Amino acid sequence: MTDSKEWKQKTRLVHEGQNRSPYGETAEAMYLTSGYVYETAEQAEARFREEDDGFIYSRFGNPTVRAFEERMIGLEGTQDARATATGMAAVTATMMSQLQAGDHIVAAQALFGSCRFVVETLMPKFGVACTLVDGRDIEAWKAAVRPETKVFFLETPSNPLLEIVDMQAVADIAHENGARLVVDNVFATPILQRPTDFGADIVVYSATKHIDGQGRCLGGVILGQNDFIQDELANFLRQTGPSLSPFNAWVMLKALETLPLRVDAHCDNTETVAAFLAQHKNIERVYYPGHDSHPQYELASKQMSRGGNLIAFDVKGDKAEAFKFINQLELALISNNLGDAKTLVTHPATTTHFKLEQSAKDQLRILGSTVRVSIGLEDSDDLVHDFDQALAHLG
Ligand SMILES: *Cc1c(COP(=O)(O)O)cnc(C)c1O
Repeated sequence: MTDSKEWKQKTRLVHEGQNRSPYGETAEAMYLTSGYVYETAEQAEARFREEDDGFIYSRFGNPTVRAFEERMIGLEGTQDARATATGMAAVTATMMSQLQAGDHIVAAQALFGSCRFVVETLMPKFGVACTLVDGRDIEAWKAAVRPETKVFFLETPSNPLLEIVDMQAVADIAHENGARLVVDNVFATPILQRPTDFGADIVVYSATKHIDGQGRCLGGVILGQNDFIQDELANFLRQTGPSLSPFNAWVMLKALETLPLRVDAHCDNTETVAAFLAQHKNIERVYYPGHDSHPQYELASKQMSRGGNLIAFDVKGDKAEAFKFINQLELALISNNLGDAKTLVTHPATTTHFKLEQSAKDQLRILGSTVRVSIGLEDSDDLVHDFDQALAHLG
């Protein structure tokens, strides 16, 4: 075999990380085992001393989970990775493993709802302070830094309004102050954007979204260099146990084979739908990083190779019109999940961001009229037709 380091991305996503059993199976094997057998007591001792490579217990590591991690490492280009049971387990472990009482986080305010809960509400319970800033305002990141700042955290594009954060500018401020930049890269997917190329130290994913891509399994993954993954994170995960099931790892591993094909098809459909919505008389405003009406289109184009599959928009009117539009859709399904083969539509103000105070919703411009769509893999003619007929009921 050629050195996998020379393989291009699509090839690596099909082959990397596979470690065949003596049966020589073509597909990745699924190792549904919690424990492992040692040949001798001496071997068990050596394994616990980390003098012998090999698995000990599936909370610490599992061959199918490791294959998924290795395939993700090949995709992201980091030194190491660890998979977790969910995306939120990935975010929580990333914070808890490297922070302690007295430390400080600076985070963008436009975050996935549960991510915002972790930094704004959970971490302060353990003495870790947090300052939320407008992620687009570089001066605000600078002004928020304290001597005890250890972590910067952001997602770009953000949920739900697809704000873009200049990762390199934020990474530079973090590094000047001895802090690490953590990027939640779910919306962009590892195919469209590589945060480590823009200075990110740690990248986290909810693999539940585009990586699985068919809405079947929960999962998460954390990628970074050895000084974090091996020295700080690995023992935290081993002791606290938010492990990915080998079955879910197997599903994710299989799904990575088609990730570039699916993401491209998602983007084709999304560009078509965004262009349709942008010119519709019953739409007030469209937010899509792949459309030149996006206020940060240039920055988006610098960081992402395409715009992704999420669109937000304000219908003309208020919550009543948004609900009417959503209820009239025949093909698009009402669901708060995203990154699925099926097109999913949600009303952020009353679902994903329902828990935010009204003032926080106002600050983020999450209005009663705001709708978020995750465009799927259906035929774009059918999608445009569905949006068109639902919009015709407004105004
Ligand atoms: C879904 C999501 C998460 C959480 O992932 P789960 O797998 O649901 O725990 C975190 N961040 C973003 C941006 C997400 O979309």
